[in-house]
Amino acid sequence: MPRRSLVAAVTGATVLALVTATTPAMAQPAASPGAPAAAQCSDEPRDLPVHEFTDHSELGIELARIERVSGGAVDVTEVGRSNRGREVWAARVGTGPKAVLITSEIHGNEKTGTDAILRLLDYLGTSDSPKAKRWRSELTVVAIPKMNPDGAELDRRGNDMTWDEVTARFPQLRGSEPAWNYYTTPRQGDDYSQRPGFDVNRDYNPDLSYEPKPEDFPGTSADTGWYITPESRIVRDVYKGLVAEFGEVDTYVDLHHQGACYVMPDDPSRFVTMSISGRFVDDPATTPGFEQYADTYDLEYSKQLNVAVYNALQGRANNNPLFGNITLYPQDTNLPGTGLGSFALNGSGAVLFEVRGQTQTLGQKYRTQLTQTVYVGLDGMLSSIASGQVENLDPAVYDTIPPRGPSVADAERRSLQVLEP
Ligand SMILES: [Zn+2]
Repeated sequence: MPRRSLVAAVTGATVLALVTATTPAMAQPAASPGAPAAAQCSDEPRDLPVHEFTDHSELGIELARIERVSGGAVDVTEVGRSNRGREVWAARVGTGPKAVLITSEIHGNEKTGTDAILRLLDYLGTSDSPKAKRWRSELTVVAIPKMNPDGAELDRRGNDMTWDEVTARFPQLRGSEPAWNYYTTPRQGDDYSQRPGFDVNRDYNPDLSYEPKPEDFPGTSADTGWYITPESRIVRDVYKGLVAEFGEVDTYVDLHHQGACYVMPDDPSRFVTMSISGRFVDDPATTPGFEQYADTYDLEYSKQLNVAVYNALQGRANNNPLFGNITLYPQDTNLPGTGLGSFALNGSGAVLFEVRGQTQTLGQKYRTQLTQTVYVGLDGMLSSIASGQVENLDPAVYDTIPPRGPSVADAERRSLQVLEP
């Protein structure tokens, strides 16, 4: 038996002993001694510490430090304010012709991306290595870490905004039903009844000039969003600025977390460290209402970018077996209201990172390893874009990345709690 399984089995037995001692009626059967460690996993929300992650005020301090030590290589600007008035910053580095936009924490309980971005900016801003120099000369990297700071400070998925605040800003919506992605009830252990909010990652629209129209509400997950949240508007405006400057945004990466208990398709004892994807919407050429995006949409390039991420992690799997547990995120989603969906339709190569476990299930437990996973993936992708090698990667390799296996969490709770991407 692998050591990990033994530890997990012993822990399970200890918990059982405690439960039995206090509330015998609730005792559950112990996992069999031979059961794999993964069987111990749960997506049940818990209140776990997150102080090791970077909070909003620390982010401001750290970005200012990086800007200072980079001697001007990294330029940090406030690009807007969240609904509760917190600064949203963009950090820009490099002078190259290919624009790469990276965002993190659109869901405030998905925090490793922000730490990975800080590490990336520190390296890009200060390193004299040939690699860093090549990145700076070939790429213009713009990062918006913690783009939903209100959700991040509350350590929850949604932002902090009421429908009344939306209609105050957009009076034409006063008679409309609230958007379908408006949260007013508990999810992921957070009670939105007193502090409602929106899933910002359903508020995008591929029409970058779209303004909210009453007839488009409440909408559905297969519809486009509306740019009713300040946070999506900020990212949209940065994206539009880059399109105006570069002609297109070469690549857009959005950094997320998924459920804690997905396992590899061929081995239920190995948890999925990260799932990746380049496909978020149905083919616009054959989807009514989306035909105008058929010429710009470039799924093949998104696949190549994902292959670069995958190869980089596989190449490091000998040093760290966790980097070997990478899978393809489900490919049957149609979410044009996500940032990735909307920007992919506008022609950007699109890459989704989904590392293991949001804060309500794993807290900061695997912070270092998961941040490292994101970093290695970004590093491989940026190297491949900067060298031009990405163009030579076979997009068909994308379809050979193993699919995400099942979640081994309790089925009832999984259906209630897991929200992605
Ligand atoms: Zn997410």
